[in-house]
Amino acid sequence: METSPILVAARAAIDEAVAAAKKTMNGGKGIDDHQVHAERIAYAATEVAAAEALQTYAAERRAAGAGDATLDKMAAAFAGEIAAKLTATIDAHEADFGLPAGVFDKTLRAPAVRDAVRAAQHESALREIGREVIRTRGANNGYIDGDIAEMARDSARQFARKDVAPLAEHIHRHDDLIPDSILGAMRDLGYFGMSVPEQYGGQGMGNLAMIVITEELSCASLAAAGSLITRPEILTKALLKGGTEAQKQQWLPPVAAGELMVGISVTEPDTGSDVASVRCRAERGEQGGEAGFFISGAKAWCTFAGRADVLALLARTNPDVKLGAKGLSLFIVPKPAFDGHEFETKQPGGGTLHGKADRTPGYRGMHSFTLAFDRWFVPAANLIGESAGEGKGFYLQMAGFAAGRLQTGGRASGVAQAALETTATYAAERKQFGKPIGEFQLTQHKLGRMATHLAASRQLTYAAARKMDENESIVLEPSMAKLFACDVAVWVTQEGQLIHGGWGYAEEFAISRYVVDAQVLPIFEGVKPILELKVIARNLLAA
Ligand SMILES: Cc1cc2nc3c(=O)[nH]c(=O)nc-3n(C[C@H](O)[C@H](O)[C@H](O)COP(=O)(O)OP(=O)(O)OC[C@H]3O[C@@H](n4cnc5c(N)ncnc54)[C@H](O)[C@@H]3O)c2cc1C
Repeated sequence: METSPILVAARAAIDEAVAAAKKTMNGGKGIDDHQVHAERIAYAATEVAAAEALQTYAAERRAAGAGDATLDKMAAAFAGEIAAKLTATIDAHEADFGLPAGVFDKTLRAPAVRDAVRAAQHESALREIGREVIRTRGANNGYIDGDIAEMARDSARQFARKDVAPLAEHIHRHDDLIPDSILGAMRDLGYFGMSVPEQYGGQGMGNLAMIVITEELSCASLAAAGSLITRPEILTKALLKGGTEAQKQQWLPPVAAGELMVGISVTEPDTGSDVASVRCRAERGEQGGEAGFFISGAKAWCTFAGRADVLALLARTNPDVKLGAKGLSLFIVPKPAFDGHEFETKQPGGGTLHGKADRTPGYRGMHSFTLAFDRWFVPAANLIGESAGEGKGFYLQMAGFAAGRLQTGGRASGVAQAALETTATYAAERKQFGKPIGEFQLTQHKLGRMATHLAASRQLTYAAARKMDENESIVLEPSMAKLFACDVAVWVTQEGQLIHGGWGYAEEFAISRYVVDAQVLPIFEGVKPILELKVIARNLLAA
């Protein structure tokens, strides 16, 4: 398969930059002494990987005799854009990059590469892409390998557009809870058990199918459907990795069937990114003759905690804070389900749990709660891994988060897709200065870049999903997909809002919801700077 000279040069440059940073940062151990440069490397490596994923996809379509001129232009334009950016970044920080002599000149600064970069991202190519986006109203009918994934996309699209989209605006504007009609339909479609193996009652459909379904649901609404699968997904992966056989048999079938709604409770009011410092305590004890743990402490930002029947909760089982991550364990904490924005509940043995949702500008429908636990009893059998799982909670949680991040790549692509479609339609219909605004060069150029970035983030996410199907333990690829797709979603929604002008700020227009929904994406499941430094850079630079 042919490779673009631009990407050959970008790959060679970034590989040399990573090799140099490995030395400067001592195999990743010295990242905190070079955070700014580590972030540059993490981001540039992610962009190169995204460009390669899009290029591979376009080349595969050509090889299959189904080449697409617009897709080829997108792949070339995106490669050109990231190569130009990488060239400027290395140029501005040459000493930090520390490339061996001659590498820069022989790769990104080689005259043939510079010419190719200029041609590939010429504004006329992007305007042509933009015109095609307007003509097709931004529709995403790209080929997906695998019949299962294609069928999954079709049926999810039908459900999302017919049953979710009509409710999305009302749920957002009234900050309602996701209605049972959506939960019930998703149950019937088997969406809560997509990553649960068939032996435990799931669909076992694999990561790619899960991503395309998530994308379609998120295109209709990030909060009212697209994010519902993330929670069971995280708990499922943690149980598969560290649960006992009895725990898998007890919890996975009802999770897969959507009989148990799940919340994930890691973050605390004073502890976010520094997960190893979680303070919520789980103390061994006994209630009514049953051995178990008493949970006490505060948790924050626990999404869907009201409606959830169980929380996957990370707590400190060893009071010695010096143990850090090694003192943490992961529990499945049952609780009654509530519909409102606040609840208080008491166990017969006296334990209490209070929850209050924090108001947010977007991502409404699931509600994210601050929780206060006071001697809330959990049976010992609910410690994931039982006694062997004590002290392993951090690692199980991180395994769950890797899957959650992959899924968030799909969520982000769905939100960006929604913004692209509505903006392409608006550009075709809105007239100013006597013609549709989509006939102006700058609008076409903007839509061309939006579609190109989205295509790259989608292919990066699909590539990560395929890789995760082969090896569930990978961390780097899903993290890169999450990082890039979330940034693309933020940027594409904001560009879409500008193209809507003042109406883009009106609640009646869906683009205003997409903007506020997208903004949460780079925050959760590893806020962007932490994802870049502590996950992507650390994995890239590991010796
Ligand atoms: C709507 C919403 C829903 C959420 N849902 C859930 C959920 O269901 N379950 C759950 O457990 N959590 C959830 N979260 C929490 C989310 O995962 C955290 O907000 C996130 O992990 C960041 O933690 P923090 O907010 O405490 O930020 P902090 O950790 O305080 O970080 C803030 C900023 O400080 C800087 N910073 C921190 N440490 C470093 C460092 N070492 N180096 C350089 N810079 C640094 C970075 O700029 C970072 O962005 C949700 C959050 C939101 C907003």
